[in-house]
Amino acid sequence: MRTLSNLLTIIAFGSFAQTVSALTVFACEPEYGAIAKAIAPDAQIFTATTHQQDPHHVQARPSLINRYRRADIGICAGAELEIGWLPMLQLRGNNPKLRDGQRTMIYASDVVELLDKRESVTRADGDVHAAGNPHIHLSPSRVILMAQHIGQVLSEIEPENRTTYLDNAAKFETELNAWIDANQSRIDRFNGTKFIGYHTSFRYLYEFIGAEQVGDLEPVPGSAPTPGHLASLIETVETHQPLAIVYTPYQDGRGASWLSDRTNIPSVELSYTVHENQSITELYESILSTLEHLANGTH
Ligand SMILES: [Zn+2]
Repeated sequence: MRTLSNLLTIIAFGSFAQTVSALTVFACEPEYGAIAKAIAPDAQIFTATTHQQDPHHVQARPSLINRYRRADIGICAGAELEIGWLPMLQLRGNNPKLRDGQRTMIYASDVVELLDKRESVTRADGDVHAAGNPHIHLSPSRVILMAQHIGQVLSEIEPENRTTYLDNAAKFETELNAWIDANQSRIDRFNGTKFIGYHTSFRYLYEFIGAEQVGDLEPVPGSAPTPGHLASLIETVETHQPLAIVYTPYQDGRGASWLSDRTNIPSVELSYTVHENQSITELYESILSTLEHLANGTH
């Protein structure tokens, strides 16, 4: 026979134990997979691209379309970052939950304020991000807003796990802010630093640490470095004395090496987004530690 206390235990666990999530998340880029995982660790999370893949250029292959079709929630950067491939997934995947305008199709560009919006764009501007720079995940305040928004949407579609999702979103914010507080002097060291970059991939990192990109290996956005353009950057390097020439794991490092050889400024592949199972905070730590090696001349 059950005792009263046993019964109470059963009732307590029956009412408060969280239900394991059956949600399936489709994240366009690894950073959104990492945020989703922090908020809903039990959900099935599929990430369409890896840290070594260019999120502007992805093949809408059948396996991606299948994943897209089965997802309950989609999380992408928006602002035309995925314009070359997401529309094809949406067309072929035909998933009503992940249609534009649905609450369950989340674009970061609808949630956070983007930098560098352009009023008018001509052909000569290249593949410029006219709707604003969509590479937002190296902005702590913006990823925190995304975590809160994802927590909110998940708790609407799975109210039984509302407390968990909102708690996890709060935890995400606390952890990231705690990392920043603990490392503020390491971060401040890079205030006023200059970089040569490749594309506008690290725009939000520069904003975060108070740095500036003084030259871009791309002659115009979306175009590979040309010999003439690279040669013109030699003068830029001499004028500004940047800390480094940086590029992401998915960008071609040859232009950066060429420029580095001629200017004695180091070129370095800088982590752009999370590796598998890496958290956003761990990504920030990895980037900061690479920058320190550069500044210390130990890279
Ligand atoms: Zn871009």
